[in-house]
Amino acid sequence: MRARIQTAIEVVYPPRCLGCGAMVESDFGLCATCWRDTPFIGGTVCDSCGTPLPGERDGFRIECDDCMDRPRPWRNGRSTLLYRDKARELVLALKHGDRPEIARAAGAWMARAGREILQERMLVAPVPLHWSRLWRRRYNQSALLGQSLARAVGLEVCPDLLQRMRRMPMLEGLGAEDRFALLTQAIRPHPRRAGRAQGRAVLLVDDVMTSGATLAACTHAALDAGAAEVHILTLARVAKDD
Ligand SMILES: [Zn+2]
Ligand SMILES: [Zn+2]
Repeated sequence: MRARIQTAIEVVYPPRCLGCGAMVESDFGLCATCWRDTPFIGGTVCDSCGTPLPGERDGFRIECDDCMDRPRPWRNGRSTLLYRDKARELVLALKHGDRPEIARAAGAWMARAGREILQERMLVAPVPLHWSRLWRRRYNQSALLGQSLARAVGLEVCPDLLQRMRRMPMLEGLGAEDRFALLTQAIRPHPRRAGRAQGRAVLLVDDVMTSGATLAACTHAALDAGAAEVHILTLARVAKDD
């Protein structure tokens, strides 16, 4: 029913910019002004997290200071936007503003940002949200992003490959080590989905990467589920200088 209502709405109302609501030519995009104000990541990037780096690539693996200080358990990572300005607004609107349509456009943006690390037969798996938060927000933004990305590139998605065992409302105030310890205990492979990751490359999808603690815990859980290797792709990266 909801889907039919949505279709009807789209027929009546022409596409609007996801950033400001102005009329746009194509569906699920940004107007020229919002596009300019949205910091898409391009050029040389860290191979582990996708943060932009100065200089040209020389064919060797490069990492940002953050990833060198804290070696990542996953193989490669990319991110789509810098978490500031219009990008921050879009991420927050997707997370808290009940704007799932942002994920549809974002999936295509992420496909582009992740093109160097995507592989055939990769299994896309979102970072899980605790069920009680899922109840309140109605959807897991990372799962929507994962589904949208998977559709854009023709990969298989497993929305509940990983599950979050308990709520952790206090994470914000904790140091990186404590966050990591708590998260590692809290994220596990779903016992009935683990077989799907067996021997495959898994691509973890999340909306924002800050310290990377959640993604690290998810990587360990995916490896526990039998994944041969894990890569990450996020919608936005919090850059250290911000
Ligand atoms: Zn706009
Ligand atoms: Zn990095």
